[in-house]
Parts: sequence; C-alpha cells; structure tokens
Amino acid sequence: MADISKDTVQWFPGHMAKTRRKIKENLPLVDAVVELVDARIPISSRNPELDELTSSKPRIILLNKCDVADANATAQWIRHFEEMGAHAMAVDCKTGKGLGKFDEVVKAALADKIAANIEKGMPGKALRFMVVGIPNTGKSTFINKMSGRNRLKTADKPGVTRTSQWVACGNGIELLDTPGVLWPKFDDPAVGDKLAFIGSVKDEILDAETIAVRLIDVLKRDYSDRLIERYKISNEDMELESYEILEKIGIARGMKIRGGEVDTERAAVTLLDEYRGGKLGRLTFERP
Ligand code: GDP
Repeated sequence: MADISKDTVQWFPGHMAKTRRKIKENLPLVDAVVELVDARIPISSRNPELDELTSSKPRIILLNKCDVADANATAQWIRHFEEMGAHAMAVDCKTGKGLGKFDEVVKAALADKIAANIEKGMPGKALRFMVVGIPNTGKSTFINKMSGRNRLKTADKPGVTRTSQWVACGNGIELLDTPGVLWPKFDDPAVGDKLAFIGSVKDEILDAETIAVRLIDVLKRDYSDRLIERYKISNEDMELESYEILEKIGIARGMKIRGGEVDTERAAVTLLDEYRGGKLGRLTFERP
C-alpha cells in the first residue's frame, strides 16, 4: 500500500479497519462531524469512505488553508458543497481567519438538535463534534485554534467514556480531542499527483520531474499568467509540451549541466519549491 503521507503514516488494511471501527464507536457520542479538506484540492483531500461512514450525522466541511488557495475557486467550492446539501465554510486555521463563522454554521447544521435540546429544557447542552480528515489537512491546528486558552479536559463528566476526552471551545461547542485520521484515495494516480503538488507526499518517493511536469499541465490550463510572469516564458510557449516548458524554466534560471543541456531535474525541484513557498501565488488545482 502506498506510503502517501509526509507523517509517514502507512495505510495497511489493519489500520484502516481500526480507524473505521474507532469512528463508528465515537459517532454515537457526537452531534456532528467536522471534515477538514485542503481548499487547494477539495476532491483529492477527501477520504473516499467518509460519506458512508458518517452518513448518520450532519457534517460541516471546512475548506482549510484558504489563505493559500484561489479565492474564486474556494467560493465556487462552498457553493458546490452547499448545493449538495452540506454545510461548508472557508477557513485558515493557522491564523483563525474564518473560524468566527463556525458558530453560525453550527447553528444552521444542528438547528434540529438545538431545537430539541430547548424542547427538553436543556438549551445550554454542549454540542459535540468529531474532527476528521486525511493527514495534513489541519485537524490538530483546528482543534488547538478552537480551544485556545479554554482548552479543558472534561473526560470525567458522566456519560463520557473513559477514553474520550473533550475539548471545550466556548459557545457550548466541544470537540473530541483526537481527530480521526483517514486515508486518501490512493488508488487514483491523479490524487497522488495533487497531494504531491502541495507537499503531502514524501518527496523521496516521487520523481520531481514527473510531478513538476504534471504541475505544469495544470498551470498551463488554469494559471498560465503565473508561469509567464515568473519564468519569463512567452505566451506562445504555452503551446509547448509541459516538459519543454520545464526546460524553458531551467533556461530562464541558467540551469545547465555539462554539455550545455538543461538541468531539468533542478528546474523541477525549483518549480516545486517555489510553488510551495507561495511564489506562484494562491492556486487551486480542482474545480467543482
Ligand atoms: P493534521 O495532520 O490534519 O492534524 O494537520 P496539522 O494541523 O498538523 O497541519 C498540517 C500543516 O498544515 C501544519 O504545518 C500546519 O501549520 C499547516 N496548516 C494548518 N492549517 C493551515 C492553514 O489554514 N493555512 C496554512 N497555510 N497552513 C495551515
């Protein structure tokens, strides 16, 4: 099975079964599921089984890392998820931008539950959430940001199993402190490419030139202006094969090897580093 995570999580069938079991065990304890996806790749950063695994609970989708994604695309994604009947919002969990709206989205997603609590005379009853997502989507960052200084363990409250710990976030919101770490859809090579673009796959197991060429495929289509601007590539060059554009990037940077050939390996590493360093601006690789 592919070792697809930077965190060296290796997904074996045993781990997957254990994760499924844990989610199923915890699901009855929560009111809803918060799913973190990477706003740059909202398809490729979702777990293929999550819909089915958590279908019994309302779900809030957080398009995280919106600070590095294309703002127009993020707006399209939110509309798309909402049209599908889900609750979605864009956030930057690192700075907390957008999280102020979480409360409002919770109220919409759990309107029935909140009304039922009021009916039962428990208007202040905490609303509990499980946080899930594939590695590196920002689950821990979200939990830490939400809890802030309120971080509190309430594990010995009645009705809570010993192993579960709740993080209080104020506003009557509590999160299960251990997020559900899910696997990506690794049987699709295009998913692997996109995880590689954003640096979520160990670089050692990838061929930089291959990934850079695939990145150029996408850039040519959606963000040719960025390539033209940064690497002094002409508009006409956009008609070239992606590998030839990679050569142009190498030439623009004076990357030659002995014999005068372009060092495309170095050009590839440079392109990937510069993209990940934010030098090409905010990009989104998937559209609804
Ligand atoms: P987890 O594996 O899902 O728990 O992900 P982490 O919370 O460990 O975050 C993975 C990486 O993404 C860390 O380097 C975080 O600093 C970074 N990160 C998390 N949220 C954001 C965000 O909103 N924007 C940006 N640019 N980076 C983020």
